[in-house]
Amino acid sequence: MVTKGIVWHQGIVARNEREALLGQTGVTIWLTGLSASGKSTLAFALERRLLSEGKACFTLDGDNVRHGLNRNLGFSSEDRSENIRRVAEVSRLMNEAGLIVIVALISPLRSDRAMAKEIIGVEHFREVYISTPLEACEARDPKGLYVRARAGELAEFTGISSPYEHPTSPELIINTLETCVDSALDQLCGVIMRK
Ligand code: ADP
Repeated sequence: MVTKGIVWHQGIVARNEREALLGQTGVTIWLTGLSASGKSTLAFALERRLLSEGKACFTLDGDNVRHGLNRNLGFSSEDRSENIRRVAEVSRLMNEAGLIVIVALISPLRSDRAMAKEIIGVEHFREVYISTPLEACEARDPKGLYVRARAGELAEFTGISSPYEHPTSPELIINTLETCVDSALDQLCGVIMRK
């Protein structure tokens, strides 16, 4: 593969050797849903559970990556796309290293999630829809963002002034109004372990 005169240098350690070392398959579990739907809460709780079960994993949280890797990006559709592309590329690298990656990202558009799936690879990408309804997310409003969005202080806020396209065929749907964290984790672990 040659891109603009840059030639891919093939390594001599195969992905399956890294996975064998860790005793697991490097997959990405991609949590999509509205702000305050419960993505980060579930992602970090899942990370805790997987670690305690001896699994090597890492969470890429949307808000957290915007403090570093993606600090130069805003919330326009172009910037959201680039945000998702970078997170997907990092996930792919971590998966190749054998890690289980948990992504918690609103990722509102189907086209952007399709791009992530293509980057990560169909067989390694597991989409989970955190389907908590808008009214519940807005009632929770743990960071006060919905209040600010309704007041017109935050532009392009997903669910209020920017669209959210729910997945059409996710591997799992979790409505956190109906499912407690422990039960959600059981279901998420099932998706990760599926071959
Ligand atoms: P997001 O990452 O989707 O923006 P957060 O995880 O930051 O959402 O916020 C979700 C809020 O909902 C938290 O305050 C969390 O404590 C609360 N919550 C209540 N029940 C649940 C549940 N079953 N699963 C996940 N979060 C829940």
